[in-house]
Amino acid sequence: MKKDIRAYGYEELKTEMLSLGEKAFRAGQVYDWLHVKLADRFDEMTNLSKDLRHRLQEQYEILPVSMVERQVSKLDGTNKFLFRLYDGNMVESVLMRYKHGNSVCISSQAGCRMGCVFCASTIGGLKRDLSASEMLGQVYQIQKITGERVHNVVIMGTGEPLDNYDNFLRFVRILTDEHGLHISQRNVTVSTCGIVPRMLELADEKLQITLALSLHGSTQEKRRALMPVANKYSLSEVLSACDAYFEKTGRRVTFEYSLVHGVNDTDEDARELAAILKPRNCHLNLIPVNPVRERDFVRPSRKNALNFKNNLEKSGINVTIRREMGSDIDGACGQLRRRYAQEDGAEASGCGENPAAEGECGRAGWESHNRQD
Ligand code: SAH
Repeated sequence: MKKDIRAYGYEELKTEMLSLGEKAFRAGQVYDWLHVKLADRFDEMTNLSKDLRHRLQEQYEILPVSMVERQVSKLDGTNKFLFRLYDGNMVESVLMRYKHGNSVCISSQAGCRMGCVFCASTIGGLKRDLSASEMLGQVYQIQKITGERVHNVVIMGTGEPLDNYDNFLRFVRILTDEHGLHISQRNVTVSTCGIVPRMLELADEKLQITLALSLHGSTQEKRRALMPVANKYSLSEVLSACDAYFEKTGRRVTFEYSLVHGVNDTDEDARELAAILKPRNCHLNLIPVNPVRERDFVRPSRKNALNFKNNLEKSGINVTIRREMGSDIDGACGQLRRRYAQEDGAEASGCGENPAAEGECGRAGWESHNRQD
């Protein structure tokens, strides 16, 4: 088994180089090729001797993250990428262009096992975790393909990042390392459905990244109806973990709340939500639910969503509604599923008819690639 060289931290790579009988400064060169020049192959590393490149090639690999499709929104310039991994699994990533810079949304797993009832990513279950290298690869490829600097990274695509904790953490450390792309930790956001022990661990890492908690219900019962993870961790436990994150890092937590018509968008829901959030220094992001073909959840009207937002604002809550980005290529998401459902890239007859292959599409829901109003 070759070692995944892009997943080594800067100091770890020094140890590797020393074990190869090389001087430590070589690690700096290799790290620079991997994480600044974004090399995909050892033979690009032209300031290393041919012999060293050859030895690296024999013992290590740079896991491929290869683009198979790119879609560009005519509405707002949002780009969606479909990437193929070494084993044929596919994940989606999204580039959103804002006035304040480029944001990339990456996937942390191929598929997902969390089972949130309104989310398409979970329907085929979890295929596998992504390595740190494969998470980095998504950001790096997007920067290479577009030639544009990535400023913000959100881990909100397919998968539950805290269900792949070690790889996720490694990814963040390398992404923000001063020897690499050096993205500011403050420009990184991780979204979780609420895996309490991992949230507490993350708080202890004392990183400056933003934690976003998928809340979606203002009572334990309502949350449990939408998110199976709530059977394991109660609402009060999840909220305490958010408080711990704020206390230990000083970073204000973002709460995400998918508005589902007739399920969690009533005036009473708004009142209960306000009561939960009022004592907390936090931000609330409302996401009108994105309809998923296999489910029949309906998003509230624009008017109802605004009414919900106003109710919360009146209670003094810091709240925004996320606006969809790239809604014109949203439909094409389903087409990608069909076209690339099989590993050899052959057309599959239809997404619902090939459940075993579903997770391979790694559907980063468009719902999470939204801009704040
Ligand atoms: N597993 C992580 C990240 C995934 S998605 C998490 O659960 O937070 C990012 C956000 O999109 C989450 O808040 C998720 O609950 C939300 N989401 C998923 N499906 C959605 C849908 N159909 N409509 C609106 N938001 C959705």
